[in-house]
Amino acid sequence: MCLYTHEIGKGFVSTDKFCAAFGMPNMNKRTFTKKDKAVSGTIVSTVTATMDTTMDMVKEIYREVYPPGEEIHDELDNAGNDGDEETAWSEDDGVPWIDVTFDGTWHKRGFTSLYGVGIVIDSLTGYVVDYQVLSKYCHPCTINASQDMPAAAREAWRVQHAPDCLINHEASSKAMEKEAAIQIWGRSVERHGVRYRTMLSDGDSVAFAALTALQPYGENRPVRKKECVNHVHKRMGTALRKQAQEARLGGRGEGRLTADKCRKLQNYFRGAILDNKGNQKEMEDGIWASLFHCASTDEDPHHGRCPAGEDSWCFYRKAQARGEAPGPHAQNLTTSLSRDVARQLIPLYKRMSSSDMLQKILHGKTQNNNESVNNVVWVHCPKTVFVGKNRVDAAVANGVAKFNRGNFQMAEVMDAMCLPASDFTINILEARDTARIKQADKSAEAQFALQRRLRRQRDAAVRANQEDREGEMYGPGLMADH
Ligand SMILES: [Zn+2]
Ligand SMILES: [Zn+2]
Repeated sequence: MCLYTHEIGKGFVSTDKFCAAFGMPNMNKRTFTKKDKAVSGTIVSTVTATMDTTMDMVKEIYREVYPPGEEIHDELDNAGNDGDEETAWSEDDGVPWIDVTFDGTWHKRGFTSLYGVGIVIDSLTGYVVDYQVLSKYCHPCTINASQDMPAAAREAWRVQHAPDCLINHEASSKAMEKEAAIQIWGRSVERHGVRYRTMLSDGDSVAFAALTALQPYGENRPVRKKECVNHVHKRMGTALRKQAQEARLGGRGEGRLTADKCRKLQNYFRGAILDNKGNQKEMEDGIWASLFHCASTDEDPHHGRCPAGEDSWCFYRKAQARGEAPGPHAQNLTTSLSRDVARQLIPLYKRMSSSDMLQKILHGKTQNNNESVNNVVWVHCPKTVFVGKNRVDAAVANGVAKFNRGNFQMAEVMDAMCLPASDFTINILEARDTARIKQADKSAEAQFALQRRLRRQRDAAVRANQEDREGEMYGPGLMADH
């Protein structure tokens, strides 16, 4: 029953409803709390054990993709680099450098949340490799604070309580993201035997600033920042709309910057980034072309930076490549800007195509992975204010495990609780994972395919293990093999 409440992200009240609907007696709340704590502990320990396996898998894939000793020839990784490193494995101690995305997520919206989580996902494989839950709340502390007692007694209580205290973060909720990054980067070598070389994160990340100050890998090895294309895309849209409003570029008339054109320019900008991943010069040209192309007229064409060739998106260059006369601009430009409007947008385009900016977005990657893991995490957690830290820990662990390993994770937790999963359970979990993989098929990115391949292999191994064990006695310690 407690496992069920974890699965649906609800608390005791939901068990009352469940029992009422099925006409069976419920346990009392105290028993529920006790059992719930045990289930939380089992979930966390099962997941902690699987995190090591995940990291081993990530390293194995790195070894395949970037064999030790070989320089990285991947354009994406070399571009914008100062050239002093470029093997994926440290020559001093053989520890790999991996590229990750980092994101903070909070239990409650707005920065009043008592719990926050920092999550790191490996960019190559898409696995969550580490996470940190931070808590500003501890129930015994809250009760103690409300009691009237002499200062000395309170101090004695505090000392005695300290080892069990659930508070591991004293500063603001907003600072949780930063704190989680510091802890995760700080322990990467010791706990996982890896270093996180780059951090893909959103624009104004305080976490990155904290890592720059911390220098977890020494002052010669700064963690580098990459920006999520989606965030830069958003920023471009905001800047265009702001400019249109402040400089009064909108309104009716030929070549004005309407809201619709802002949206189109924003999308062209994104296209210029994604079409030219890994090539700074072409990305820069592409961004400028997206402006100048739109500001061209028959009398005054500016297609110099538009891509040449017969399959160019630019009608003008395409005609040129075919040796034909380009058609009139009035009929071929879908987004036309007057000369004056384009001139006023130049400073913005200069900023958004600066070398500093391009180096951060050259990878052309997005943080989508992090956003979906955030969804999976909080699905398992009741949204009530007074949910305990144990429950949050379990919810996060559960979400991470499902993200990495699929729904099959639940069968492992049941195993660890000595509740062998029945055929019904296994069939349901398998069907849910299959549905999930099918959905992922729609975005057929290479890394995703890799992730799925591995997931299948792993699930097959888990099932084989499961079947092996079905005839055996279930006991504690069995999970230690995984
Ligand atoms: Zn406490
Ligand atoms: Zn053009």
